[in-house]
Amino acid sequence: MVQSEDSRFGAALGFQRKRPAQGRAPPKPPPGASAQRQPQAEKLIIIGSGCAGLSAAIYAARAGLEPLVIEGSQPGGQLTTTDHVENFPGFPEGISGPELIRNMRRQAEQFGARFRSERIRRLEFSAEEKFPRCGRPDVQKCLQGETESLWAQTVIVAVGATPRKLGIPGEEKFFGGRGVSTCATCDGAFYRHREVVVVGGGDSACEDALFLARFCSRVHLVHRRDRLRASKIMAERVRAHEKISILWNSIPVRLDGDERLASLRIRQGETSKEQTLPCSAVFLAIGQEPNTIPFRDALPLDERGYIRGEGVKISSLEDPPRSFEGIFRAGDCADSSYRQAVTAAAMGCQAALEAERSLVG
Ligand SMILES: Cc1cc2nc3c(=O)[nH]c(=O)nc-3n(C[C@H](O)[C@H](O)[C@H](O)COP(=O)(O)OP(=O)(O)OC[C@H]3O[C@@H](n4cnc5c(N)ncnc54)[C@H](O)[C@@H]3O)c2cc1C
Repeated sequence: MVQSEDSRFGAALGFQRKRPAQGRAPPKPPPGASAQRQPQAEKLIIIGSGCAGLSAAIYAARAGLEPLVIEGSQPGGQLTTTDHVENFPGFPEGISGPELIRNMRRQAEQFGARFRSERIRRLEFSAEEKFPRCGRPDVQKCLQGETESLWAQTVIVAVGATPRKLGIPGEEKFFGGRGVSTCATCDGAFYRHREVVVVGGGDSACEDALFLARFCSRVHLVHRRDRLRASKIMAERVRAHEKISILWNSIPVRLDGDERLASLRIRQGETSKEQTLPCSAVFLAIGQEPNTIPFRDALPLDERGYIRGEGVKISSLEDPPRSFEGIFRAGDCADSSYRQAVTAAAMGCQAALEAERSLVG
């Protein structure tokens, strides 16, 4: 994947951060309206319009569920920030992220999926309890948006995740195809035989360093502490690798270059001495934040914020476990391991099939 300024947020291909409301959606009920006069619950609401949400929308729409897709503040999701995707099956020459997303959305729309420009702030659901905020005891799920409340029989949560960044000068300038990346699996192949840097010290950083060392000429692992947080075996592999060097107690302070990244400036924590590390790419492996904060009261999250479950089904560790009937998880908000477009799409497909099964009984 390579990104360009033009493709940021898919602007060049028509993906705007905020889209006008579209589709046939229930109107906002007037204050004090009776339950009978309120709109019908949607059969399926999909929260998120990235690869997971759009794939779920394609399957659900083809099954006649007329899903309503809530786009969130990044219509099209993370893939709209990338210019070139080389690993999504079916595109031997690669495809730009916004174009891939635009195709998925068109495919979903042509089968009857509807889209809504809205961001969900809260989700409430229960088989028995009433919904104080919605005043609708007869439906199972209530979604509180920024501007309105929505009701659904089934819900797919596909809200994705946001990769962490360093917040240093030059990061935004070189992010996306100019040298700074948050995905070694996606972008590593573009830097064959080049000198690259990985920032981080956990398992992901070590995995990225080992992966890149297969085809890059040299990999520098920049870590702010004096020991790796990664598992022993990973740390040992990294330390033993002849192409990987570790810079301990080192803090990235600036990224430099003209059109493309040329070097990373780092500061040695103990001495405060600075040094310049020439490199073609910097891979940030400092974690990602699942976009699940609005759902933390309703859904079981692990310690990092990912939605707990098995496959696309949501499950808690409680004894007895809570029931999450009719609500499913998909994509990066539920997957800290693979974080790829195709794996998110696959989960979206599974979630839609499960939603259909739960509706038909
Ligand atoms: C720079 C970059 C390049 C990448 N390149 C590749 C690549 O080349 N190949 C590859 O396979 N993968 C790539 N990936 C990874 C891939 O983009 C993700 O794995 C994939 O987008 C995950 O899809 P998703 O639908 O789970 O989540 P996302 O794409 O993150 O989409 C989440 C959606 O949820 C919405 N949302 C969030 N919160 C709310 C809310 N409260 N209410 C309503 N909606 C909400 C957002 O607006 C968004 O539409 C890349 C990622 C990045 C960041």
